[in-house]
Amino acid sequence: MTIDQFNFAGKKAFVRVDFNVPLDENFNITDDTRMRAALPTLKKILADGGSIIIGSHLGRPKGVTDKFSLKHILKHLSELLGVEVQFANDCMGEEAAVKAAALKPGEVLLLENLRFYAEEEGKPRGLADDATDEEKAAAKKAVKESQKEFTKKLASYADCYVNDAFGTAHRAHASTALIAQYFDKDHKMFGYLMEKEVKAVDKVLNDIHRPFTAIMGGSKVSSKIEIIENLLNKVDNLIIAGGMTYTFTKAMGGKIGLSICEDDKLDLALDLMKKAKDKGVNLVLAVDAKVADSFSNDANTKFCDVNDIPDGWEGLDIGPKTEELFANVIKGSKTILWNGPTGVFEFENFTHGSRAVADAIVEATKNGAFSLVGGGDSVACINKFGLAKEVSYVSTGGGALLEAIEGKVLPGIAAING
Ligand code: AMP
Repeated sequence: MTIDQFNFAGKKAFVRVDFNVPLDENFNITDDTRMRAALPTLKKILADGGSIIIGSHLGRPKGVTDKFSLKHILKHLSELLGVEVQFANDCMGEEAAVKAAALKPGEVLLLENLRFYAEEEGKPRGLADDATDEEKAAAKKAVKESQKEFTKKLASYADCYVNDAFGTAHRAHASTALIAQYFDKDHKMFGYLMEKEVKAVDKVLNDIHRPFTAIMGGSKVSSKIEIIENLLNKVDNLIIAGGMTYTFTKAMGGKIGLSICEDDKLDLALDLMKKAKDKGVNLVLAVDAKVADSFSNDANTKFCDVNDIPDGWEGLDIGPKTEELFANVIKGSKTILWNGPTGVFEFENFTHGSRAVADAIVEATKNGAFSLVGGGDSVACINKFGLAKEVSYVSTGGGALLEAIEGKVLPGIAAING
């Protein structure tokens, strides 16, 4: 079932959203992107004449914690929806069931943070540090057992289930995946945001227009290894950028000074280079670097060859030759995936390389390429440059996007697709 096909008139929908928004110390929302991202789905249900029970998590509470209460976002949600949203202080309490049952068309009920219950994640809590393996196993079994009741109760509030929380699609949690089993295929569906995310991932994994270029940046090769290996089977060009560059440079015998490097991953870097060669993938590595004499925005800087970094200096961004090299590859591409900055973009003086990559992606997109930016810091990067609207799609899912690109089946998606 798709959300467009479904008529919500007179129906109660349990909608799992990702309202895990950042709050300041006075509980003001500092960035409501995630809330706005769910509005098309919520508004469609209300416009149809349905009512909504909203479930979400906020932060990583280890129990009931005022700091992570969803009541902090209630007012803003009401403003965004133009509806006075009701609140249930406890997603499992009598109040939640009564309020859900009483919902009339056009009404909305926000449940308190689902992660106030260990059952949402299905992981035991409060185990003593010195718990034995048997105690751990028993606690795990107990929470899995009570998770069934928890999930069933959430499902009982509604006639249909909508998952619009791509950010948690890689988790097999009660409200993101397990709940789907209580609805038949005609009563469970993705929300609009989730649909868009799934389509965007599908485009870079299965509907590839060539050449396909992936730009992998960030700090460590070890955290990106599975993605890189999967991408080697798909891409024509693989650009390696960011801190992981220096592991490759050192593996090839270059001098990297104090640059970040995973010494236990040198063989892995060589192995990836060999795999790229065997598969006919053009592996594009930096040729020069912007180096600094300390890890600071105010450090002294200069440009040098990436394999000849002086002692006491470290590479914190790519240099101009590399910018041009990367930009040319990107501009010639028809499918582009960008994950991870080319340097320490948090420091103003080391954003230039990431900006050059972003500009090249924007130009390629104008020329008809499909560009997907996602996974952690590249989203912060593209937002910082104000270019989010100039690329084809900016994913809202960090870990979920990366796992999808690794080729993993995401539980939240599988639960709907069957
Ligand atoms: P990731 O979360 O793996 O995408 O890594 C992003 C982080 O990598 C950002 O915080 C960057 O500051 C960092 N990073 C990128 N390039 C470098 C570099 N050359 N040296 C140290 N850290 C870097």
